[in-house]
Amino acid sequence: MTIRLHDTRAQELREFVPLDPSNVTIYVCGPTVQSGPHIGHVRAALSFDLLRRWLQLRYGRVTFVRNVTDIDDKVLTNASDGEPWWALAYRMEQEFAAAYAAVGILPPTYEPRATASIPQMQELIARLIERGHAYPAADGSGDVYFDVRSWPAYGELTRQSVDAMEAAEDADPRGKRNPQDFALWKGAKPGEPADATWGSPWGAGRPGWHIECSAMARRYLGAEFDIHGGGLDLRFPHHENELAQSTAAGDAFARYWVHNGLVTVEGQKMSKSLGNFTLAADVLAAHDPLVVRYALAAAHYRSSLDLSESSWSEAEAALGRIRTFLQRALRTTGDEAGWSTDDLPDAFAAAMDDDLGVPQALAVLHETVRAGNAALDRGDADEARRALGAVRAMAVVLGLDPFADEWRAAAPDTKTTTALDALVQAMITQRAQARADKDWPAADRIRDAIAAAGITLEDTPDGTHWSIDG
Ligand SMILES: [Zn+2]
Repeated sequence: MTIRLHDTRAQELREFVPLDPSNVTIYVCGPTVQSGPHIGHVRAALSFDLLRRWLQLRYGRVTFVRNVTDIDDKVLTNASDGEPWWALAYRMEQEFAAAYAAVGILPPTYEPRATASIPQMQELIARLIERGHAYPAADGSGDVYFDVRSWPAYGELTRQSVDAMEAAEDADPRGKRNPQDFALWKGAKPGEPADATWGSPWGAGRPGWHIECSAMARRYLGAEFDIHGGGLDLRFPHHENELAQSTAAGDAFARYWVHNGLVTVEGQKMSKSLGNFTLAADVLAAHDPLVVRYALAAAHYRSSLDLSESSWSEAEAALGRIRTFLQRALRTTGDEAGWSTDDLPDAFAAAMDDDLGVPQALAVLHETVRAGNAALDRGDADEARRALGAVRAMAVVLGLDPFADEWRAAAPDTKTTTALDALVQAMITQRAQARADKDWPAADRIRDAIAAAGITLEDTPDGTHWSIDG
């Protein structure tokens, strides 16, 4: 097995060689919990859910850390008298967790909140000062800055020279040696809530955003780990600064940098000002969560994903084809819906190994559905059984198995299904009677009424079966 991943730092595909093949380690930047998730957040988390599931299958164990940034300028800004920053952060954290769970994103192995690792952040800052790569501001503000001029490698992730960079906007420029120096520690300012402040050797204050991730990655995964992930928009300054801090402090840090593409809506970047800021809650209220998962997973994780109304209908149709085949094959072969990784087609595995090629993997899945349907049409039970196992295995690996427990809540309830089945069976019986009586207009009327309801009939030697069109 050779897995290749696109590494942002190398700007090319690299063979993935984990530090410890018995435990692959991944750190993904989690949300800043200032407001609810939009669909781009869900797509980012889903990209790494798919990577994690595949590496889990390939290596057997993955330790997956995704943090929660619960202290940040933006969290403080959005807090109010009625809702302190920590209450807002917790409410939003729950909204993110609900959106992730709705589309079947597995919970991380650990999900640390930034506020629970303040001592680890201070330890890292102290180490940077000791090594001459950070300094407390000379103006007595209590700020501590990373000294970008002291670290010649600064800019290596995004291949920028310091001179060409814009000034870091994460802190007031006063007290900085260079405009590009960024804040590791932010001294408390008048008017800020007292409970958003922690004591430190440099004065009371709170951590800068970038140091949070460096410290949490080290705490939970060690000084060196396999994959650091996040959205393309985090490459600079966030990931550039994480890399600089950690390596300047003496840590090897991430071996691979993996970034997912962004989501656009009808060709436009999502933004509040454009009014196309698609909240995850709105999308999930309007569409079956499994359809949302399929639509967000179907594009390659590195490409930008343009959403439109047809994204949902195409995903729904594709899932319908999978569901209908599985139902038909299960009924015909009488097999239990078992599967094993041995059932995965080589072409599917090859696509997943090649930089997580989900679009190609889905093409293999749908090709197998077509072949399986053809086998059922010609009564080839062995071939149909093979296709059933393969389709089931591929769907499970991608988290898209329509019969998995996680989608049951969204599926029609048993009472509705039972009632519908009774009605359709009654019509099937009436149609059979009309045909036996050679009353062709009546038989056609019944058939048309069933078709108009979006129901497909299949006449087989053991009777007529129905399914809802995909
Ligand atoms: Zn981060």
